[in-house]
Amino acid sequence: MTTAPDTTRAPSPEREQDEAVVLSRVSKLYGGLAAVDDLSLTVHRGEFLSLLGPSGCGKTTTLRMIAGFEHPDTGDILVDGVSVLGVPPHRRHVNTVFQAYALFPHMSVAENVAYGLEQARTPKAELRERVAEALEMVRMRSFANRASTQLSGGQQQRVALARALVNRPSVLLLDEPLGALDRQLREEMQVELKLLQSRLGISFVFVTHDQGEALSMSDRIAIMREGRIEQLADADTIYSSPASAYVAGFVGQQNFVDGVDAGGGAVDTPLGRLRTTRGTGVGVGERVRVAVRPEFIDLSAEEPVGTSENVVRGTVIGVAHQGETRQFLVETGSDAALLVRRPTPLAPALRVGDTAWCRWSAEQVHAFPHDPERSAAPPTAVPDEQPSRPHQGEEHPR
Ligand code: ATP
Repeated sequence: MTTAPDTTRAPSPEREQDEAVVLSRVSKLYGGLAAVDDLSLTVHRGEFLSLLGPSGCGKTTTLRMIAGFEHPDTGDILVDGVSVLGVPPHRRHVNTVFQAYALFPHMSVAENVAYGLEQARTPKAELRERVAEALEMVRMRSFANRASTQLSGGQQQRVALARALVNRPSVLLLDEPLGALDRQLREEMQVELKLLQSRLGISFVFVTHDQGEALSMSDRIAIMREGRIEQLADADTIYSSPASAYVAGFVGQQNFVDGVDAGGGAVDTPLGRLRTTRGTGVGVGERVRVAVRPEFIDLSAEEPVGTSENVVRGTVIGVAHQGETRQFLVETGSDAALLVRRPTPLAPALRVGDTAWCRWSAEQVHAFPHDPERSAAPPTAVPDEQPSRPHQGEEHPR
């Protein structure tokens, strides 16, 4: 889905109150190439919105234009209902937290947080109060006098947050702010950030290429591709009703199989005739990409009885133990290997070389029209310990 031009923006006080940031048909070109391409987006007040997409899709450029570090070639950007085109960064009601939080090493925690207020010549009493308040927000008040060099990565990032929050922005812009932290700390900070945002009611625009991060924290996620928004929705919708094969493959994992629409929700594929209850979006005889998630495939050593719909026979060529889940790679003998994920207590005792039967419900099958412009395989993450999936997401010869 590409964002439609906003042609319905009649003035409305209620709507303006709800709109923290509005991007209206914004484009940014570098050397003739569009980093951001005719993008429209509204960030609601108090909303946690993530811009999610692979490297180079235009997330940071979008964020930097809201912040005022870059200027759009066309379109308009409104913050709190007012156009900010030509307004310098420090005069916008937004603050940015970057991945490289770059605290001043020669200053204490409190001095780092106070710096911006000092530059703005904030009266001493107010400054002290606001610094204490900002440090309290990120639970760092007891560290106020600590040298900023004597902090852990997570603590430094919290100070960077306080430094941004002390200005009481309407909108906080966060550019991969957890990218430099190790996994455990990152997960802890995700929870803290979300709690902080809910408590403060400030709008957060959060840039990340980490789908888990976006899914766990966001009210809505904008999936970006090539400078445009491919889908904008809440996490559940993005996961369960992806708007395109690209979105389906970018969020969570997918098995993709290409085929031809055979009518009535049936698609002829190298795995045989597969069925979907969701429609294919194309006519009979047209090309379709079918997607089914690994967690929706049932696996057994016995042939399922009573149904032959969406049943595929194969050979196990990989098993990966992953704690609460177990993953299987099943070679189907028809040029496509299926990735299957089962909860460990329900996982069948199958080993490499065993015959296995995969089965899934037609309700769990998504089908997308073949898009000649976008025929490249969507990104699909395969755990390191898995053998490679030779044909997952690739085009099938026809
Ligand atoms: P990443 O996750 O790697 O930071 P991104 O989605 O944030 O990627 P952007 O940094 O917005 O992507 O870049 C979008 C496109 O614009 C890329 O093709 C990039 O090479 C290009 N680009 C960004 N900044 C500039 C610049 N200052 N000059 C020229 N090209 C740029």
